[in-house]
Amino acid sequence: MSAKIILKKAREKSLLRRHPWVFSNGIEQVEGQPQQGETVEVYAKDGRWLGRGAYSPKSQIRVRIWTFEQTETVDQAMFERRIARAQAGREHVIEQGGLTGYRLIAGESDGLPGITVDRFENVLVCQLLSAGAEYQREAFINALRSQFPELTIYERSDVDVRKKEGLEPTQGLLHGELPAQPMTFMENGLKLLVDVVSGHKTGAYIDQRDNRAIAASYVKGKRVLNCFSYTGGFGTYALRAGAAEVINADVSAPALALAQQTAEINQLDLSKLSNVEADVFKLLRQYRDSGEQFDVIVLDPPKFADNKAQLVGACRGYKDINMVAMQCIKPGGVLLTYSCSGLMDAPLFQKIVADAALDAGRDGQIVQKLTQAADHPIGCAYPEGFYLKGLVVRVW
Ligand code: SAH
Repeated sequence: MSAKIILKKAREKSLLRRHPWVFSNGIEQVEGQPQQGETVEVYAKDGRWLGRGAYSPKSQIRVRIWTFEQTETVDQAMFERRIARAQAGREHVIEQGGLTGYRLIAGESDGLPGITVDRFENVLVCQLLSAGAEYQREAFINALRSQFPELTIYERSDVDVRKKEGLEPTQGLLHGELPAQPMTFMENGLKLLVDVVSGHKTGAYIDQRDNRAIAASYVKGKRVLNCFSYTGGFGTYALRAGAAEVINADVSAPALALAQQTAEINQLDLSKLSNVEADVFKLLRQYRDSGEQFDVIVLDPPKFADNKAQLVGACRGYKDINMVAMQCIKPGGVLLTYSCSGLMDAPLFQKIVADAALDAGRDGQIVQKLTQAADHPIGCAYPEGFYLKGLVVRVW
């Protein structure tokens, strides 16, 4: 018999809307002694069955719902159905972009809370981030294997969020053979490099794919500064699109080495490319103070806020780099600026960029609003799935 979670009065509303999280403060009673990650039945105070999910005793998010269908059991077959649906929903993007690198599973938005899977060529890189995902490890990995028997499976659960769930970080090969790293994958006709073992997260930031193509539409004949370049995604697209000069800037030397190699394997004009290892906060100030000006600047910083307490500091950080970047843009040039902090919503980000323009003493016009690529969907019941926001700002 599974343990029962009974919610406080009126706390069933979000579950009735199929939001998959039960917070600890919404729970009235736990009947039974569920183990970490074990499947529990969630009931409203009035006795209505609401969902079946994974119990996470150490997390504020105490239950993550696997299914809202009472007849559906949580087993390998359920995971196979979820994976098959996720793949089917991405076929059009894969085909249109000629993609061999894409997000196969986007957690809650694909009905698989706490699970991320990216595919690069014949390698599936997975992250099991919640107690429930960890508990279901065998069923889930077997489901992946049955859906994609020919693919290698590599785990990159070496992330701090696992600690919130009472889990240790872990990483390693789960199935098959891993090709030599870094390896290439295709995106919109470009060969991009990814190191799934030592790269950030699963290895590459494929959520920016569409935004790289959009950025490329602004760069022909222009001088481009790609800040927080990582392995040079935006810079590679810009070179192909005929930029006069591209500077990738990042603190990570290994990432910049891959950026250089990426330009080489795509036979792009290396004389137009430089890779600068630097702290972008300092570098932008140096450029401003020495009067360096650019036509196009891309600002794609890492997540500045992991929790609400960090949001105020994050706002300051975003405003600061956006302000200095605008001061480095020639009148009529373009800033492509992003925030991947889910806690910062789009209106707040827009306000920060507006404040940055004011403080920079520049007039800005938002000419495009951007978001994450289509293989990173946002579940209608799970608005938290929207995390990547971008603005194209013409700066006068
Ligand atoms: N634009 C990239 C993804 C950027 S991820 C792409 O399209 O693939 C954020 C990057 O910021 C990481 O590569 C990280 O190394 C870098 N970074 C973090 N803090 C930095 C800092 N202060 N200065 C420069 N780079 C930084």
